[in-house]
Amino acid sequence: MSAIVIRGREVAGLVLDDVAARVRARLESGRSRPRLAVVLVGHDPASETYVRGKRQDAERVGIAASDHRLPETAGTEDVLELVGRLNQDESISGILVQQPLPAVVEVAAVVAAVDPARDVDGFHPVNAGRLLLGQPGLRPCTPAGVLRMLDFAGIDPAGKRAVVVGRSNIVGKPVALMLVARDATVTVCHSRTHDLGERCREAELLVVAIGRPHFVKPEMVRPGAVVVDVGVTPVAGKVQGDVDPAVAEVAGWITPVPGGVGLMTRAMLMANTLAAEEARRP
Ligand code: NAP
Repeated sequence: MSAIVIRGREVAGLVLDDVAARVRARLESGRSRPRLAVVLVGHDPASETYVRGKRQDAERVGIAASDHRLPETAGTEDVLELVGRLNQDESISGILVQQPLPAVVEVAAVVAAVDPARDVDGFHPVNAGRLLLGQPGLRPCTPAGVLRMLDFAGIDPAGKRAVVVGRSNIVGKPVALMLVARDATVTVCHSRTHDLGERCREAELLVVAIGRPHFVKPEMVRPGAVVVDVGVTPVAGKVQGDVDPAVAEVAGWITPVPGGVGLMTRAMLMANTLAAEEARRP
């Protein structure tokens, strides 16, 4: 058996086309163009690549994007000052602070400084709290992208036994909460989990976000399961996921790396920026 591959390029393309059509409709009816402000501190090469990708996506869908750069030497106060200025600018729909930030910068303080209504990363404590409480709010892009891929593939999480491996604030925890909100029965695993292989094998829906290349092997996967690979680790000039490609012989559905969840993350950022603008200026 070989798994059905859920291609991020195809699903992300649909999301971006939808955003582009809605932006066009806004402009045609005289409403505002969404605007995304990206804060970049220092010159992390991976961040530079991500930010370039975000600019390309924005251009494709008609969202205006601006970069706001600070030197590597910037401290918490410098970043807070910039975020404060962006918060003051009413023309901006979405504010994103590219991570990782330099070690001296207090990430939690910066995340909490972004206006929650324009927190298109969905990392602000207010938005995290709204997700926990099941209230509307901006959702983190990667978990939202995972759910969108499942919807595209016609996979309904309701009633399914789901296992999420990884408990980070940006992927593992929010994806687990979103699956609970969609009526899945969710187990969250992490580096201290006993019998991880056993737990994974119980999953009808397995989401892996740990950053350990090819960690999940075929014998850890229940035959026919849906396997979502969030992992992205550079290995010898290529990116590798957390799931061994041989898992495709056991799983029923699988997301590829590259060409999977990563593209969804980018697309959902555009969807969030439009959503933030629609909420501010319907
Ligand atoms: P993170 O903050 O480093 O968290 C990793 C999580 O995995 C932690 O909860 C950790 O457990 C758990 N873990 C690590 N090793 C483990 C092991 N051997 N067994 C079980 N659990 C283990 O990472 P993250 O930010 O969530 O990112 C995870 C991966 O997703 C990375 O490869 C990252 O690059 C990728 N990612 C991709 C996208 C995308 O757009 N595709 C977006 C974000 C992240 P503890 O909590 O116990 O330490």
